[in-house]
Amino acid sequence: MTNLDPEIVEPVDDLLRALPGLKVLHSLDEREAHRWDRALDPNAGLPMAVVLPHTTEQVQQVVRYAGARGIPIVPRGAGSGLSGGASAVEGGIVVSMAEMTHVEIDPVTRMAFVEPGVINVDLKAAAAAVGLWYPPDPASIGFSSIGGNVATNAGGLCCVKYGVTTDYVLGLTVVLADGTAVDLGGPRLKEAAGLSLTKLFVGSEGTLGIITRIVLRLVPQPPPSATMVATFADLDASCRAVLAVASSTRASMLEFMDNVAINAVEDIHGYGLDRTAQAMLIAQSDQPGEAATREIEAIAAVCRDLGAEEVLVTADVELGETYTAARRGAIPAVETKGRLLLGDVGVPVPELGALVTGIAAISDARDVIISVIAHAGDGNTHPLVVFDPDDADQAARAEVAYGEVMDLAIRLGGTITGEHGVGRTKKAWLPGYVGEDVLRLNRTIKDALDPMGLLNPGAIL
Ligand SMILES: Cc1cc2nc3c(=O)[nH]c(=O)nc-3n(C[C@H](O)[C@H](O)[C@H](O)COP(=O)(O)OP(=O)(O)OC[C@H]3O[C@@H](n4cnc5c(N)ncnc54)[C@H](O)[C@@H]3O)c2cc1C
Repeated sequence: MTNLDPEIVEPVDDLLRALPGLKVLHSLDEREAHRWDRALDPNAGLPMAVVLPHTTEQVQQVVRYAGARGIPIVPRGAGSGLSGGASAVEGGIVVSMAEMTHVEIDPVTRMAFVEPGVINVDLKAAAAAVGLWYPPDPASIGFSSIGGNVATNAGGLCCVKYGVTTDYVLGLTVVLADGTAVDLGGPRLKEAAGLSLTKLFVGSEGTLGIITRIVLRLVPQPPPSATMVATFADLDASCRAVLAVASSTRASMLEFMDNVAINAVEDIHGYGLDRTAQAMLIAQSDQPGEAATREIEAIAAVCRDLGAEEVLVTADVELGETYTAARRGAIPAVETKGRLLLGDVGVPVPELGALVTGIAAISDARDVIISVIAHAGDGNTHPLVVFDPDDADQAARAEVAYGEVMDLAIRLGGTITGEHGVGRTKKAWLPGYVGEDVLRLNRTIKDALDPMGLLNPGAIL
């Protein structure tokens, strides 16, 4: 054993002895590397060990081992989560699914049989090889796992037309807190037998069980997209355009970036975006043939009518992909400006303008930068509160602003999280959002499935 904290030698020795076939990481560097996800939760603990199972049976063994000793477990996909859901717990075991990466595609039934560690983009590539498509496309497609996507019910850019992760989940194998492995749902397009338990585990953020196998529905590849980019000098006008586009077309993408995000992306990539624009909308249409051009022109007309300053329309797929890449790169680009508190609030689309302008008012009042990017067609925004962690006063104001944004969304009939999950960073706002009765129902389900509270303790509840 190298670089090992003497305090954990004994428990790790016990783990290695008890589960001899299991891959275990236990050096200090390896444990540190699994302490945080992308939310960088300051309260994350140092795990005792990181295990990398290769089979459902090995996951069962780990869960039984931990259960018998009262050791907390944190399931982990690729650690790209933005809510601290995969933050490690002090002295716990991180169960990383990174080496369960088998994918099987059945082109006849249009289904994928996937282990949870498969990276989203690798599943898309495997499906594309037989002319099929797995739609959900979080901006983290290149580095988030399907298990993590299912456990957070991930959304993304094409979800405005094609729905979110849960809409593609047909079946799951889940290891429960007592070590039992259950198959829920399966390779069937319809299922009405018993309670809808498969969906209970979608979005459960590792608090109810560990997902070890996933059956997903695939669809035919869509036609190539036509793209529109419109810039606005006025935030509210851009949000009115979003509502008008969402209610009159079936855009396959409708994304928003504000001035801070545009400039942060420009600073890094230099795509030639308009640095003076207050807002930029990126829309796509993937209707077949000429219909895509007609739909994208209709979207462009709506934007011009509502005051867009510059409007670009293109059927060039590569050029369209550049704008999509700019949007996908927005969070990492803003991340270079300081530490982030990452919001994920969503509102009914007619309230998007009130949310975006309300966030700007919070930013002014608290004197902190809040950059807004959004899956605008879904009403799902990502307000990124930027702060300097070495400036205690600014960090405190950022924290207040982060909470005020969630309070604002709730007042507008929205949600505290549209796709990133509650994790640890948003759980203080969950009671206020769902109310006492629903919170109790959440606790009842958690207590029934995990009476010792060992699965991802401290996440969600
Ligand atoms: C730049 C950037 C852009 C992003 N864009 C989007 C976006 O557009 N849409 C979106 O939805 N998200 C987005 N995210 C957030 C993140 O990528 C998603 O939440 C993703 O689904 C997390 O997957 P992961 O494999 O990294 O999971 P992790 O971060 O490792 O885990 C996330 C949660 O799932 C649980 N979990 C993971 N695997 C399992 C399993 N097998 N069984 C049970 N529980 C499990 C963990 O305990 C944790 O609670 C973005 C993140 C970044 C950094």
